[in-house]
Amino acid sequence: MEVIIQSTAKKVSILAAGRIARLIRRKPNAILGLATGSTPFLLYRELIRLHREEDLDFSGVHVFNLDEYLGLGSEHPASYSQFMQVNLFNHVNLDPANAHIPDGLVNSREIANHCARYEESIREAGGIDLQVLGIGSDGHIGFNEPGSSLSSRTRIKTLTRRTREDNGRFFTSPEDVPFHVITMGIGTIMESKELMLLAFGDSKADAIAGAVEGPITASNPASILQMHTTAGAYLDESAAAKLQRKEYYEWVWNCKPEWQLE
Ligand code: PGA
Repeated sequence: MEVIIQSTAKKVSILAAGRIARLIRRKPNAILGLATGSTPFLLYRELIRLHREEDLDFSGVHVFNLDEYLGLGSEHPASYSQFMQVNLFNHVNLDPANAHIPDGLVNSREIANHCARYEESIREAGGIDLQVLGIGSDGHIGFNEPGSSLSSRTRIKTLTRRTREDNGRFFTSPEDVPFHVITMGIGTIMESKELMLLAFGDSKADAIAGAVEGPITASNPASILQMHTTAGAYLDESAAAKLQRKEYYEWVWNCKPEWQLE
């Protein structure tokens, strides 16, 4: 896994946005997999700036989001659908018809079908070119909690107590965090052509150390990225603090030939 470390979350986000922008300029109908939560906030802000100031064109881009809370409609302020509207979609020229997020209000009898259709629409679009990922403090990617099958597909999952606590800050009251979600599976995520895992802050340092340098295990779902040919961990100093080979990753980055930075 490529490990990219910058001093601040802002610098990491600018670098990551630059990579996404290059993909969109090279392939105007790129398929992006996107994430929610605090982590990608600055990344989306930079993509919006690139759209406004440097003509980054989203009109042909398709987006598939990783996950959604079950029970929350797209108008609910804590829904991931709403998060994407407020933090990205409302500010760029993405065609709403090209934005896909699992439906949090799907009828319980329809969940399995809904998940299968979500997988199908990713395949029909041609597969995800680049998937943005955050990481939970427990190593989850999407909402694939520890213990998730490393081959899993889009499905319903039950959140851990820790994730419900971690995400309580997005809700009026922490008890309002739903217990269930729909999430792309780990197998779904691994089919993306490129994976971009972002992590900021010391609360992510243990999960990142396990994901990048630990054994591949369902106990740290992000560790499966070690099996991907084109995965990058984009970290600030605090999230990278527990990596044993930190110095080497920085050396690799500093020694990169110009053409590889493009
Ligand atoms: P966060 O969540 O970006 O809000 O820290 C990341 C995640 O749970 O995947």
